[in-house]
Amino acid sequence: MIVCKFGGSCTANKTALENIKQLKNENLERTVFVFSAIGKENTFDEKLTDLLISLCNEPANSASYNQTKTKIISKLKKLSKDTSVSFDVEKEFSIAEAHYQISKDKNFLISRGEYFTTQIMSQFLNLAFVPAEELVFFKSGIVDKQKTQYALESALNNNRRFATCGFYGKDENDSIQLFSRGGGDFSGALIAKCLNASLYENWTDVNGVYDINPLIAKGNLIKHLSYDQLEIMTSMDAKVIHPDCAKLLSSSNTVLNIRSCFDLSQTGTVVDFKANPKLKFVCFKINCDSAQILIHDKNQTKTITTDKNSFTKNIKTAYQTLISKTKI
Ligand code: ASP
Repeated sequence: MIVCKFGGSCTANKTALENIKQLKNENLERTVFVFSAIGKENTFDEKLTDLLISLCNEPANSASYNQTKTKIISKLKKLSKDTSVSFDVEKEFSIAEAHYQISKDKNFLISRGEYFTTQIMSQFLNLAFVPAEELVFFKSGIVDKQKTQYALESALNNNRRFATCGFYGKDENDSIQLFSRGGGDFSGALIAKCLNASLYENWTDVNGVYDINPLIAKGNLIKHLSYDQLEIMTSMDAKVIHPDCAKLLSSSNTVLNIRSCFDLSQTGTVVDFKANPKLKFVCFKINCDSAQILIHDKNQTKTITTDKNSFTKNIKTAYQTLISKTKI
């Protein structure tokens, strides 16, 4: 069984949308479809989640509030147009807005990005829509794994295939609780683990994981690595996948495949339980007053700490100098 999760950029692009449909039709093993809120169509665009967060921070009915609301509505309308799904965006959004104005529950309003995106996508893909409030549960601020697993198994018994929202769940007081930013990845990993999926496909806008941060140099795609190796990367702020996924999946039976939804001919990066002994990668992390560069080679890891200002002034040169002096 395959759980697939689609990042926000996949629902912001027409080609990727058609690819999602193809992926659903070509492999019946793809069972659970998890969606993030609509992302950026281009670098100047804004993510639906960012717009919803702004809306929560603006005075109700101010000019800026109305401007942000217009952007939210037009993003949702674009998805409904691109998918030819009839969805009354204005009506649905005003119901959510009215609820928010009474409850003042920011998490609720922010989570509507995933909720509406998944509602539209489930109609486009002709899949049952099972919202995250019926599947992912929190207790005392952390995921209630038992309740979540039970709810997921029931959803699977009731629906052969279904679509659900990433990024949030419901707590013991029936309030919405969000994961941290980028948490749709974590929802997908959690669902894959709870359902004992053989594969978790994380569909995104890049071809997979690269061996070097693109700010330093043009790198090579990593075909295979282990969860431990991925955890080292994400602990260094590598924006590959949500940092909590590697640990969660390392204690599962699920293999992870990070792939591009824009080019289905690319097979992406496979992450499993066996370390790739030949793997070499470099990542860096900027802290308050220092910069850290990590080199992983032949299953060994070395970290160099350097002055933040000189490192950030010219990352490429600073990196070359440090690397030439370092032996692993
Ligand atoms: N929509 C949320 C965010 O922008 C979660 C996600 O995309 O995974 O952070």
